[in-house]
Amino acid sequence: MKQKINLLIGFSFLVLLALIAIQCYLVKTSYDYKVEQFHAEVKEKIAKITNDYTDIDSTIVNGKEVYYKRLVNNYVQNKNSKSKLKSKLLENPYRAALTQQLKRKIEREFPKSEIDFAVVINKLVLLSKSKKTDTIFSEKPIIGNSIYGSLPSLENAFSVRNYVETTSGFRDSDYKLLADETLFVSVKNWEQIILKRMVTILVLSVFSILILIFLFVIAISALIKQKKVSDVKTDFINNITHELKTPLTTLSVSTKILERKEVKENEAVFNSILETISRQNVRLQNIIDQVMNNSLGFEEIEFQKEKINPNLLLKTIVADFNLAHPNVEIKSDLMINNLELLLDKFHLTTAINNVLENAVKYGCRTVSIRTSIENKLFSISIQDDGIGILKTKQSFLFEKFYRVEQGNLHNVKGLGLGLYYVSQIIKAHKGSIKVVSDLGKGASFIISIPSI
Ligand code: ADP
Repeated sequence: MKQKINLLIGFSFLVLLALIAIQCYLVKTSYDYKVEQFHAEVKEKIAKITNDYTDIDSTIVNGKEVYYKRLVNNYVQNKNSKSKLKSKLLENPYRAALTQQLKRKIEREFPKSEIDFAVVINKLVLLSKSKKTDTIFSEKPIIGNSIYGSLPSLENAFSVRNYVETTSGFRDSDYKLLADETLFVSVKNWEQIILKRMVTILVLSVFSILILIFLFVIAISALIKQKKVSDVKTDFINNITHELKTPLTTLSVSTKILERKEVKENEAVFNSILETISRQNVRLQNIIDQVMNNSLGFEEIEFQKEKINPNLLLKTIVADFNLAHPNVEIKSDLMINNLELLLDKFHLTTAINNVLENAVKYGCRTVSIRTSIENKLFSISIQDDGIGILKTKQSFLFEKFYRVEQGNLHNVKGLGLGLYYVSQIIKAHKGSIKVVSDLGKGASFIISIPSI
């Protein structure tokens, strides 16, 4: 059963992870799609701008053309090298003015976003009808080859379009300079623009993942709770059957013995069997009382509180305990003062006895009982040197019917109600109880009750 539940939890967890992964994948796909869409929008608008140069100052355009022609001329006449042609072309004097004009156009088209751009030359070729094609340079797009624009790097930019710019030589030459160019654009805060567009999807996704996790946690904790309740029920039935078995067997054997003729005739034996029957009867009654009374919550118990000196009460409890368990050494360090608290004598005595009885039940040889008062809290510490309690089990000790599986102490009887009852009684006195222990190192139960 336990294995089945673990498998179920593991499988549900995997399904949950898969659902979260699918959700993340869908969000990522939709993000990629939005990026594509955004790039397409930008490309379309930029294409409109760069297709139409009619509103760009013609003196700049013409001046640039003449400058290019002169560069071609100088190169053809061997006045410039290839690298000189390239560098002169890149640092052309119309660069700033053209950049400015293009920028203005872009700003008009994208009034709300900050857009930067660069036109990068990838390849420069000189064509002539009479001569072989002369490649001045051919490189991958790099920012160093930008002729217009003020983009500092191509890192966050995307290519918008490729085009070929043609410049013919002077009238008397048949040279043509072809520049293969790419326009790169970078939109400032483009991630924010896309995130803004995705806000509904993101919120819905996060919300649905959170709801999924929440439902998963609720379902699993309900399952674990259910399993615990069922375990506790089974344990309780086993424990109570175990507890009832001994007196019932004794009673049945004793009645059978009583039926024998020789026993009936022997008054001493007869009386001793009767005594056994009566003892077992009391024991059965005690078990039933224990279940009836100790399983009540503190709201269901009737309390009769009176002003009592708790140290004197503990003194009598210790004295009675000493008589009942002469083999257990009891060390008491009780405060001697006139402190009086509003306590229910009967229930508190039973509760403290439960803790002391547990110390004996779970293997102690010595019990130390100490009282102290600090910050208006009256504390009773009951420490034993018994088998101790695993740290992982300690948080369940005060739950109804909870018993630690006893390992090598199978024969320790109990119903798992003793500490539950103690905790309820202490709660009714507005106090608290905690345990400090570890397996094999004894246990300390510390009860604190407010002194006002
Ligand atoms: P019960 O003794 O009937 O099982 P309790 O509610 O009194 O039920 O105690 C709950 C569990 O706490 C016990 O089953 C036992 O394992 C553990 N326990 C209680 N007191 C001690 C102690 N002094 N030393 C070790 N284990 C203890």
